[in-house]
Amino acid sequence: MDSYQYLIIGGGIAGVTAAETIREQDPDATIGIVSHEAYPLYSRVLLPSHLKRKIPREKLFLRTGDDFIANRIELRLQETVTAIDAKRREVTLRNGATLGYAKLLIASGGRVKPWGRPEDESVIYRLQTLDDADRLFDALGSIKNPLVIGSSFISLEFLEIFLLNGLTPGLLMRDEHFFASYLEKIGGELMRAHFQRHHITLYEHDEVAQVRRAAPGSSQIGTQEGRARIDLTVLTKKQQVIPCDALAVGVGIERNLAFIDRSNILRGNVGIRVNEFLETGQESIYAAGDVAEVLDPVTGTYRATGNWTSAFLEGKHAGLNMSGMRVPFTNIPSYSITNLGMQITVVGECLPTADLPKGDADTIVRVDTDKNEYERLFLVEGSLRGAVLINRFKDRAHLIRLIETHQKLDAYQDRLSSFQFDITTIPVI
Ligand SMILES: Cc1cc2nc3c(=O)[nH]c(=O)nc-3n(C[C@H](O)[C@H](O)[C@H](O)COP(=O)(O)OP(=O)(O)OC[C@H]3O[C@@H](n4cnc5c(N)ncnc54)[C@H](O)[C@@H]3O)c2cc1C
Repeated sequence: MDSYQYLIIGGGIAGVTAAETIREQDPDATIGIVSHEAYPLYSRVLLPSHLKRKIPREKLFLRTGDDFIANRIELRLQETVTAIDAKRREVTLRNGATLGYAKLLIASGGRVKPWGRPEDESVIYRLQTLDDADRLFDALGSIKNPLVIGSSFISLEFLEIFLLNGLTPGLLMRDEHFFASYLEKIGGELMRAHFQRHHITLYEHDEVAQVRRAAPGSSQIGTQEGRARIDLTVLTKKQQVIPCDALAVGVGIERNLAFIDRSNILRGNVGIRVNEFLETGQESIYAAGDVAEVLDPVTGTYRATGNWTSAFLEGKHAGLNMSGMRVPFTNIPSYSITNLGMQITVVGECLPTADLPKGDADTIVRVDTDKNEYERLFLVEGSLRGAVLINRFKDRAHLIRLIETHQKLDAYQDRLSSFQFDITTIPVI
């Protein structure tokens, strides 16, 4: 049985950063990474840019196999952990082998939530992995009429990918408007106008009820550039009939953690619960990146994030703590996207409206429709917890400082609802 002083599940940014941090701290340790995917570290963040034909595929890669060899980190590609035995300090792989560890990091990220029927797989596109991106890249020449499903950052990426490839997609979402968990009605209206400016046909507050294909041999089946193109009809719950030939699914992710099922590792709402030192509570087992739900020691809440910088920083902290240091992780997460000329940023915790604790939580909306600018501030007990910014990136850094310092904003409450008041003039104490 192979055994490592440090074993890491997942070869994404969190896992690789942890491994490299451990190597810096501990030059002689044995380090192994088990990675389900077939490639050394690449940038998920840049996958959309590749599909928008802005960067070539080779620019996606952030490490080569030789980098791992030089660092004496054993990268075990295309191997998958199926179980953890914390008592024996072993993990089991899908191929039946077991690996021993002294310290274990779970950095297994997430995957697209299940969607659609298996028989429709050939017309369903996801965008989580390089394999997903390769498949869509190959299909872009033959897709003519794509339908994007869901109201997520990845849906925004799909829309721009299709438009920049000369295709006009439709957009179908379950919610009453885009990003309903972040934006209220006015923000929803801004997004609606944005999509309409780009001639995207919107199907709101609706869901796919059935996907129908043209019968084999019918004239509806065409070919383009050698690839079969299958005409589809989506029937929705509201009885709309949407013709399309590809379904691009952006319905959010679920965390890869089935392999903890028979262990005592604690699950939170979506991921693995860890304290501010990235410890799971099971001896010598840590978690970091998208799969982790990290305790914010100040608010006492657990936060699951899905962003690159947080995954990198958590990987760094996990590596330091696994090597014997005691460095608490604190970070205000921030995610930004520029989509078809619209800049959207989410910082901190923007709790879906229904999840806000009643009485002590509030949101304040500031909007300038002429300039297409919008902010929604999420306050809990008078302090800023999070914010959604549309075309207001300039406020981001100051808002992060206000969130970090838990500043009470009661004295400014009356002025906050207008952009006339410059929020960056609130002193950070
Ligand atoms: C298309 C796209 C665009 C994005 N754009 C942005 C952006 O603009 N800004 C931003 O901040 N974030 C963005 N993100 C999110 C960001 O990429 C993620 O938050 C980040 O990659 C998470 O890193 P991670 O290391 O935690 O997990 P991952 O990158 O998901 O890596 C986890 C790895 O573990 C492997 N694994 C899972 N289970 C097992 C197992 N049982 N055994 C072995 N290996 C396993 C997985 O296959 C995967 O390779 C984007 C994500 C996507 C998909």
